[in-house]
Amino acid sequence: METEYPIVERQHAAIAGLRASFASRRVAHAYLIEGVKGAGKEAVARFFTQLLLCTEPADAMPCGNCRNCRRIREGNHPNVSDIRPDGQDIKKGQIADLIYQLNKTGIEDGRKIYIIHEAERMNASAANTLLKFLEEPEGEVTAILLTDTLSAILPTIRSRCLEIHLQPPPREQVIEQLAGEDGLTRSMASTATMVTAGPEEALELASGELFGQARKTVLKLVEASEKNIQEALLFIQTDWGLVFKEKDEAELGLDLLLFAYRDIAAVKAGLGTVLAYPDQRDQWEQLALRMTFGRLADILGAILGAKRNLHSNMNRTLLMEQLVLNMQEVRHAL
Ligand SMILES: [Zn+2]
Repeated sequence: METEYPIVERQHAAIAGLRASFASRRVAHAYLIEGVKGAGKEAVARFFTQLLLCTEPADAMPCGNCRNCRRIREGNHPNVSDIRPDGQDIKKGQIADLIYQLNKTGIEDGRKIYIIHEAERMNASAANTLLKFLEEPEGEVTAILLTDTLSAILPTIRSRCLEIHLQPPPREQVIEQLAGEDGLTRSMASTATMVTAGPEEALELASGELFGQARKTVLKLVEASEKNIQEALLFIQTDWGLVFKEKDEAELGLDLLLFAYRDIAAVKAGLGTVLAYPDQRDQWEQLALRMTFGRLADILGAILGAKRNLHSNMNRTLLMEQLVLNMQEVRHAL
């Protein structure tokens, strides 16, 4: 039966917590499920709703086949309500209507569940109306709030909820999504997902003006510094600073450089990981043949050192020149 719920595998820890609260008959009045877009918040909420209303649960798993399970999957169980933003926000009237419905007799026996999607978008009066309701829990009613911005949920609401934290979606899945729906190349999506936490952030970075140029510039620096030091130093003085002007841009440059050398190390080790620069695989394989693991580790250490110096407000051109020199010294020492 587990195969019917891939979310059980993907969000194992969160699901295990929910199954335990069901098995011990200690279902909370309110849950707050937090996770980035794509983490599976709705799938977790639906799984738990089925578990709570299933007529034949076994081993703290919903059966997936009973009338309740089926109606929940089809989105038409009368005891389950979904609240979503009406325009910009979730309004007081929506919460008041919900409470009225929940108090009305005439819906089916058993637990009532309401799911508030994008709960961070409740406006102040909606949140206060909900809060009053949460403070006077009556009968078998369970709230499931979903959010990707935990910091935007009122502390008074949070304190009434059991928080469930979801893992970000696997990187492969985010790359597929960005390359499919959002029209990025797989290579761009692969690099962007290395330096960001979730699909939205990755998309924002990869669609920005800086990113394509940044990626190209980093690859050129790798090429130049593997050829000769004069070329690499000249490249720092002419091109690098034009692309990575501000401090956060300089940090992005160093991160992208770090991931290039991590790729080379992964290729050398024969790891089946998804590369940050899949389009460079041939180039990385060439370089991996010429470099020892010790040398790669030293280069990675030098880049991390440069990242630290960036925060001590060192002159950034000087910092990059020193990094290129450090990377060379390492090479000549071997
Ligand atoms: Zn069932």
